Amino acid sequence: MTNLCYPSHKPLLSAEQALERIASAIIPLSETETVALSDALGRVIAESPQAPQDIPPQANAAMDGYGLNSAQILPSQTFRLHVVGTAWAGQPFVGELADGECVRIFTGAVVPDGVDSVVQQEQVDRDGEFALFGADCPAGRNVRAIGSDVHRGDTLISAPKKLTASDLALLAGAGIADIRARRRLNIGFFSTGDELTPLGEPLGRGKIYDSNRYLLSGLLADANHRVVDLGIVRDDPALLEQTLLDAADRFDVVLSTGGASVGDADYVQETLAKCGQVEFWKLAIKPGKPLAFGKIGASWFFGLPGNPAAVLVTFRKFVAPALRQLAGEPAAGPLQLLARCDSRLKKSAGRQEYQRGIVSQIAPGQYAVKLAGGQESHQLTVASHANCFIVLDADCAGVKPGESVIVEPFSTNLPPL
Ligand code: AMP
Ligand code: MG
Repeated sequence: MTNLCYPSHKPLLSAEQALERIASAIIPLSETETVALSDALGRVIAESPQAPQDIPPQANAAMDGYGLNSAQILPSQTFRLHVVGTAWAGQPFVGELADGECVRIFTGAVVPDGVDSVVQQEQVDRDGEFALFGADCPAGRNVRAIGSDVHRGDTLISAPKKLTASDLALLAGAGIADIRARRRLNIGFFSTGDELTPLGEPLGRGKIYDSNRYLLSGLLADANHRVVDLGIVRDDPALLEQTLLDAADRFDVVLSTGGASVGDADYVQETLAKCGQVEFWKLAIKPGKPLAFGKIGASWFFGLPGNPAAVLVTFRKFVAPALRQLAGEPAAGPLQLLARCDSRLKKSAGRQEYQRGIVSQIAPGQYAVKLAGGQESHQLTVASHANCFIVLDADCAGVKPGESVIVEPFSTNLPPL
């Protein structure tokens, strides 16, 4: 990768081009570690475990009822059997059934030898030690066969996969107590700017509180990340250089916000160019035009813009997929829904826009979206109200109410309209 401090005539890079460049540069981390199942939610499994045994390991009852041998069933006639014992889940019935006998059995109990049917208790009457069965009693029902979930030797989960709660249940069901996972990414991030003040200190004139560090630490929260907040770095080239070099030594990924735009003092770009192979891109997107990406030593570096809305967009669209790739997750794109737009959207042709919106579900498969507020990129309130991006193509020149737009929800739970 070459150092490219962009001259102003350099053409804008599209979001797709930027994503492609990032995706083709990143090589997933290959190291793995053993992780206890209790800590494995959201981790990327690195080896595909095989079932050490059948699940279920023995045939068991799928219902509460009475277990019997279907040879006892008399077609089209009622019949009665002697109840000779009980099979509980975890406490099998010991013994063999003779002709004319059945057992009381509960869901999950091992089916005794010779039993091939469980008749639901609602279909059976009791008469002391006897159970009375109706005519046309179904045979061969309500028994879960050995291995009806998993056969011994089956691949339980194909790696790589980010483990879900159901994956953990499947592994636990097979008796697997720990797994091999890709190791976590070590990520350090800092804010740059002389105007930034940490929380807890009074605001001087011309200062603002550093909100990006809270935004970033929230966006970075993931089971595959070990995140360190490196604080605020003043607009000082020596300090910036030291911070970058130290961080690149300690972390797989270093993120900064602020100081990435053309209007900033030249030393920001110079410092980055001195420290590593970092490209500065002018992206054809709004918000979030400037983005720096590259390597400092062995560490990946992302220089995000300073404005909060631009941090939200560049993180979600470029950094998050890169981190997933680095962590070894299989490729996956954002959910995109077609929604009726209930606001008038201002836009001029040229750049792709990610406007901050509120999407609601009108009915299953029907969505409506409105603007979450003004679209200036310093507006923290709007980003806080928003639950989606409204994605507008570069050549779109505005949207009238009632037209359809593409939205990318931040979560899959949506409010009703
Ligand atoms: P910059 O990219 O450094 O020119 O910053 C662009 C805008 O984002 C300026 O208005 C900065 O004050 C603002 N900004 C930069 N960093 C932060 C931060 N950490 N928290 C909140 N606003 C910031
Ligand atoms: Mg700045």
